[in-house]
Amino acid sequence: MGEIDQAERIALFKPLLEQEEHEAAQAALQVGWLGMGSYVAGFERAIANLIEVAAPRVVAVSTGHAALHLALLIADIRAGDEVMTPSFNNAADFQAILATGGVPVFCDIRDDTLCIDIEDAERRLTSRTKAIIATDYGHQICDHEALRQMAKRRNLRLIHDAAHSFGSRYKGQMVGNFSDFTIFSFDPIKNITCIDGGAIVLPDAESANSARSMRFLGMTQSTDLLYQNKRAGTYDIETIGFRYHMANLHAAIGMTQIAKMKVILESRQNACHHYNKRLSRVAAVNIPAQDLEHRVPFMYYVRVPADQRDNLRAFLDDRGIETGIHWKPGHQFTLLRQFHRSDLKTTERVANEIVSLPLHSKISLNQVDRVSDAIAAFFDAS
Ligand SMILES: *Cc1c(COP(=O)(O)O)cnc(C)c1O
Repeated sequence: MGEIDQAERIALFKPLLEQEEHEAAQAALQVGWLGMGSYVAGFERAIANLIEVAAPRVVAVSTGHAALHLALLIADIRAGDEVMTPSFNNAADFQAILATGGVPVFCDIRDDTLCIDIEDAERRLTSRTKAIIATDYGHQICDHEALRQMAKRRNLRLIHDAAHSFGSRYKGQMVGNFSDFTIFSFDPIKNITCIDGGAIVLPDAESANSARSMRFLGMTQSTDLLYQNKRAGTYDIETIGFRYHMANLHAAIGMTQIAKMKVILESRQNACHHYNKRLSRVAAVNIPAQDLEHRVPFMYYVRVPADQRDNLRAFLDDRGIETGIHWKPGHQFTLLRQFHRSDLKTTERVANEIVSLPLHSKISLNQVDRVSDAIAAFFDAS
């Protein structure tokens, strides 16, 4: 492809990196304290402020995967414990369960929201099931009220994977302030990015302090000192731990992104509304029911006839439009096949129909038009 064609390519995901991010990165480097320090403290406070929880409950970590792993450990998941989660989920969730020695148990999703099918999950519970990971998908949010009731009734720990829904509001409450454990990801493609990063919102300051120690090799190294860009000369090690902390440079970028939350929300909502309008005229395209109010949409996806999906993706790729499949179901991966117990009908149907379309913060409506026109052209010709 020539340079001009490349320039016109529409990426599936694209971070919002502007002057502010460059300046924040430079300022953080000039401070010269590269590891966990004052910017991480500031980022945790900014998250807590946005999601309306007490700051001590928010713990910044290196990735969403690390956040899931620590949340599971603090929820006391041990070798042999079953953790229920949809097969239609991110690989990080499965790997985090395996990292604890836990056993992933796959349940199905709802056809309308593609989020966990709670009744199906409940049918699959056994005496060994200790926790559920429920993941918000794209611009959809799980039925968290029903989840909470089920978890209480069946004595399960509930972990809310909100990697897709950072900044969204659900039934009047900010995502992150109504679940026992919530995790976020700030990887390169998420609603906001830290380059790579994640956070856990824990039930109380005590469990959050455990997470603070575990993210830093289990050391009793004082977070208060580190947050002043200092370290204690001595420390003890009291618990198992990992190198899962967040670094200053990453936190500095994260803070600039949080300051842009309103623009990020509005531009993504506008793009989704525009897609809805343009694509509703294409009969073969199934647009999911959606309620975008107070949502920061992470992904825009549609469903198309399974036998045309791959041809559509190739057609769009030829026209410089990147698409994706989120996700290939967990039970279809070599490592995870062994955990497949019984039918996952909706998951398998959806996996063959789904396609994610370009969506970024500040994506132009012209780009949305270009994608929509190309999809209409594909179905007109077929
Ligand atoms: C991105 C993502 C994760 C993992 O986060 P990383 O920061 O990439 O490790 C977990 N769950 C979901 C739903 C995600 O989209």
